[in-house]
Amino acid sequence: MRDFQQTDQNGFYGSFGGAYIPEILYKTVENLKESYLSVIESESFKKEYHALLKDYVGRPSPLYYAKRMSEKYGCQLYLKREDLNHTGAHKINNAIGQALLAKRLGKKRIIAETGAGQHGVATATVCALMNMPCRVYMGALDVERQHVNVERMRMLGAEVFPVQSGNKTLKDATNEAIRDWCCHPADTFYIIGSTVGPHPYPDMVARLQSVISEEIKWQLEEHIGRDYPDYILACVGGGSNAAGAIYHFLNNEKVRIVLAEAGGLGMETDKTAASLQIGTTGILHGSRIKLMQTADGQIVEPYSISAGLDYPGTGPLHCNLYETGRAKVLAVNDDEALQAAFELTRLEGIIPALESSHALALLPKMKFKKDDVVVLNVSGRGDKDLNTYLAHKDEIDYDKI
Ligand SMILES: *Cc1c(COP(=O)(O)O)cnc(C)c1O
Repeated sequence: MRDFQQTDQNGFYGSFGGAYIPEILYKTVENLKESYLSVIESESFKKEYHALLKDYVGRPSPLYYAKRMSEKYGCQLYLKREDLNHTGAHKINNAIGQALLAKRLGKKRIIAETGAGQHGVATATVCALMNMPCRVYMGALDVERQHVNVERMRMLGAEVFPVQSGNKTLKDATNEAIRDWCCHPADTFYIIGSTVGPHPYPDMVARLQSVISEEIKWQLEEHIGRDYPDYILACVGGGSNAAGAIYHFLNNEKVRIVLAEAGGLGMETDKTAASLQIGTTGILHGSRIKLMQTADGQIVEPYSISAGLDYPGTGPLHCNLYETGRAKVLAVNDDEALQAAFELTRLEGIIPALESSHALALLPKMKFKKDDVVVLNVSGRGDKDLNTYLAHKDEIDYDKI
């Protein structure tokens, strides 16, 4: 079996990835490329990183055997509880790692992009912790829609910069963050929130999130006496929680990987974010990936009920997993995700993030054997989505739960 974990020297997973960056960033990205591995693999970095993951984030996150869900779906279902992390999702794992790296590289200032505000909050949190100035770029429309997260970031001391260009959402915020980076390449570190962007970001983010599958291995060993599952399920926006959950299983062909991308109102409509299945290859934010674009290369605005999944592309690692067939990718529509959210809430007493609900909605689409061990990554908690859940509570089929 080929190696699905590593990029080649130029940062490609198969034909996806690379670093398509403006000249002015070349030196900065090149420096990062040359230093990131030796830093994050060093003993002193690992020590500091893992101490914060333990005492600040609250890791290891539990691997919970979901008894009632297991009975319902005829399998042995374990939930990886990233929802229990500080700030409510997996994103903090990556933000802490990159902030520590920024410090070691002597950077004085942090910038980040955010869509729904989850990565912005994680970054603002870490910057408060490490006493670093932080500016978060956010589409003006998202600033309006995600008021609570905006106020959280401000309370944490970050500057939230509303972006007025384009559709005023995540893609535009990312463009603006890259513009800032181009103006201050020497002193500024750009903390990217997912396995996207130019090499080495996708690989770096995947490695920082790989603590998830590192834990799953020993936790499964404790639960079932075997350190790998039959299936691993996760949702995919840019790809970071999925990358973390599958990282140490990528080259174990006994483990089947199933990923959920956001179908929105349906892949056949123009209201979707299923970029792996309906996208075409192009370059966005420094990387060759599958993305939603018109025939002449204009980005098509993605749609999903879940703000964390509506990026117009998917990171290069996952593009390669999809194209090679290593991962099976299914679209999950808004209504299916909502139903799955209420089901987990009623059967297990866990209110999941809308993004994670997409992974949960894979379960009714699968055919398991009774003994199959299934690990599902619950990437975040649902507090932030309560208004959406309430607005749709009458559409739920409670008899099906
Ligand atoms: C941001 C987010 C996602 C999507 O991002 P990935 O990089 O694909 O993981 C998924 N779940 C939650 C809870 C998020 O906040």
